[in-house]
Amino acid sequence: MICYVLSDTTLEKCRMTIQKNRRWIDACELRIDFLDEENRAIASSFPETVDIPVILTHRRKIDGGQFTGSEKQRKAELLKAMDGAFAYVDLEEDLKRGELDSKAERNGIKIIRSYHNFERVPDDIYAKVMQLARRGDVAKVAVTPHSVQDLITLFNAERENRGIDKIIIGMGEYGMPTRILYRRTGSILTFCSENETAPGQISAQKLRELYHADEVNDRTAIYGIIGNPVYHSSSPQIHNPAFRAIKFNAVYVPFLVDNVRYFFMLAELLKMRGFSVTIPHKIEVLSYLGDITREVKQIGSCNTVVRKPGLWKGSNTDYYGFLRPIENDMDEGRIRRALVIGAGGASQAVIWALRNRRIKVTILNRTLEKAKAIAKVNLCTADTIENAPLYAGKVDLIVQTTSVGLGEDVSPIAGFPFTGREICYDIIYKPRMTRFLKDAQEKGCTLHFGEEMLLEQGKLQFEAFTGYHYPKQVHPEI
Ligand code: NAP
Repeated sequence: MICYVLSDTTLEKCRMTIQKNRRWIDACELRIDFLDEENRAIASSFPETVDIPVILTHRRKIDGGQFTGSEKQRKAELLKAMDGAFAYVDLEEDLKRGELDSKAERNGIKIIRSYHNFERVPDDIYAKVMQLARRGDVAKVAVTPHSVQDLITLFNAERENRGIDKIIIGMGEYGMPTRILYRRTGSILTFCSENETAPGQISAQKLRELYHADEVNDRTAIYGIIGNPVYHSSSPQIHNPAFRAIKFNAVYVPFLVDNVRYFFMLAELLKMRGFSVTIPHKIEVLSYLGDITREVKQIGSCNTVVRKPGLWKGSNTDYYGFLRPIENDMDEGRIRRALVIGAGGASQAVIWALRNRRIKVTILNRTLEKAKAIAKVNLCTADTIENAPLYAGKVDLIVQTTSVGLGEDVSPIAGFPFTGREICYDIIYKPRMTRFLKDAQEKGCTLHFGEEMLLEQGKLQFEAFTGYHYPKQVHPEI
């Protein structure tokens, strides 16, 4: 079940929120601690007015809620609300049993016995689940993972607490995979809300339409992307709709990763079939691969890992992803000399790709030493960015590979005297139209966008993951 957490101040607003999200959700949680006094007093009427099961919750401030009154008052308000046809009531583990339990039993309301930890994932979490469930209640633990190791603990709950009705939630940024893959933690439901600004929160629409979280089962092939940061990535939008289009029971999930070694352990636990790799793990991942392609050997970095019998195989789709949009120009001999701005990780795939097509390359970088080192192994020349104007009119292709212009309106070669004959290619994809490309466009240059490369490398990853071509009818929004 995908369960929407209602945090509006009136019941009417809650109903409107449900209406808005109805096609993506199966249940909701009415947080009466968010309701104003008047509406809280009539909360029992709510379940009758909606067509999905409702969880009743009255959360104290110390457990992440809004309620600041006395326990006596909270209990009285809960008891009053329990006159309504709620499917579940959430009662914290330290809340005294007795009246609340017997009223729940009398009214056919199932109890969710909950435990919250905003600091960490406690060592005794499996014992905690058993303790919460010992009277046949649904055990709910909402804890805060800070590492991949913590995620492993949460995904192991499926095995350690098998057969127990439970809800396991990893809060915060590291916990996001537990919300998408909730069925792999053995949870009966996952929570979502409108407020995606809180780290780790996912909207109902994304859970249902992008990840199809409710359809993940034992046979679902799990793929993903690892990085740090990672939640800005557009790769889930590239892969998930394409899995759907070819009717492949698979899901692609972002994983915030602090430790690559532990991630490989998690990948084994989840029986992952493959994953994309982004900054800063493209080099570290190499130590765990049993086989690598020629491009990975040359470039020294890997962005795609696929499970093969007995080993993980790494490839680099940035290489071909970069080439594809300019392949025609190269085949037709329009590109003989190129200027590559930047000498970071991404530039290496670009430079190798160009050099393997026998294009003369000059690398310009803020730190000349880095440009020189790459130039040496690639048999090309190096210079500083300040000298960029010296190359005006002498190159056919200019590739911008620095992070300058990412989310800001600046160019690393501001004032460059474009002739208008250059093909200009920025590998940054947010924004689509960078300052570098705007300047080039003003002079009439031909443009190529980072999103072309992103999409092409993603399509190649899809082929590596599934063995199928990327479906033509899918046009991902990135
Ligand atoms: P990186 O390894 O951190 O390299 C950053 C590069 O930017 C270095 O050359 C660095 O120069 C330069 N730089 C940073 N700040 C600068 C400044 N203020 N002035 C001048 N130069 C500066 O990063 P990366 O992995 O190569 O990624 C670079 C960009 O490519 C990112 O925006 C990434 O999103 C994008 N990318 C796009 C795709 C795609 O599919 N479209 C794929 C991969 C990467 P120094 O050496 O002097 O520090």
